[in-house]
Amino acid sequence: MEISQNIKKYKEELGEKVALVAISKTKPNSDLLEAYEAGQRIFGENKIQEMTDKWESLPKDIEWHMVGHVQRNKVKYMAPFVSLIHAVDSLKLLKEINKEAEKNERTISCLLQIKIADEESKFGLEAEEAKEILASDEILELKNVQITGLMGLATYSDDEAKVRGEFDYLRSVYVDLKKKQPQFKVLSMGMSGDYKIAVTCGSNMVRIGSAIFGERSYN
Ligand SMILES: *Cc1c(COP(=O)(O)O)cnc(C)c1O
Repeated sequence: MEISQNIKKYKEELGEKVALVAISKTKPNSDLLEAYEAGQRIFGENKIQEMTDKWESLPKDIEWHMVGHVQRNKVKYMAPFVSLIHAVDSLKLLKEINKEAEKNERTISCLLQIKIADEESKFGLEAEEAKEILASDEILELKNVQITGLMGLATYSDDEAKVRGEFDYLRSVYVDLKKKQPQFKVLSMGMSGDYKIAVTCGSNMVRIGSAIFGERSYN
């Protein structure tokens, strides 16, 4: 009940310009189906095994987004079906994704994760490193990956000005890189606690989990 109402509420609030990724990690298939029946088609997970299990048992018109940190040796399990990988943070990982995409005769869309929070634990690239990857000769050889934009996680904080500053910064990096990357179209920023700020800062893809499905007991 509540899940379907939440989906409708967020879809209405976000409109057509901001894509909603329903972050369903740790939640059972029955919860995902409830969201699906309310019209949700994009789901995000952070563990490859869990995402693969869900993909196998749920309707095939779902778009699966990997939003967590990706280990190279696990790329092969999601390569047959993943539609967007949000947290790419190295050329090495891009090469692995390209290799597995090629085996599956697919092109896989990826976002580069930019470090915007000051918390040590958060993965991601400096803007300058992302620029170097995009400008490298090696990237031209990766025919089966397409980098369609950027993703970032703001500091987990009540300090709205700080969070806004981080999202504004990511938006400026996006605008700058897009000048040489006409295929850029996704700026993935904003979660349950900060999506409103993210949207006012130019996000066009938000990743909302607990506000749709309820609190998680782990992860
Ligand atoms: C879990 C997760 C989210 C969703 O977090 P909520 O606060 O539950 O909305 C968004 N992005 C990433 C990368 C996540 O791992």
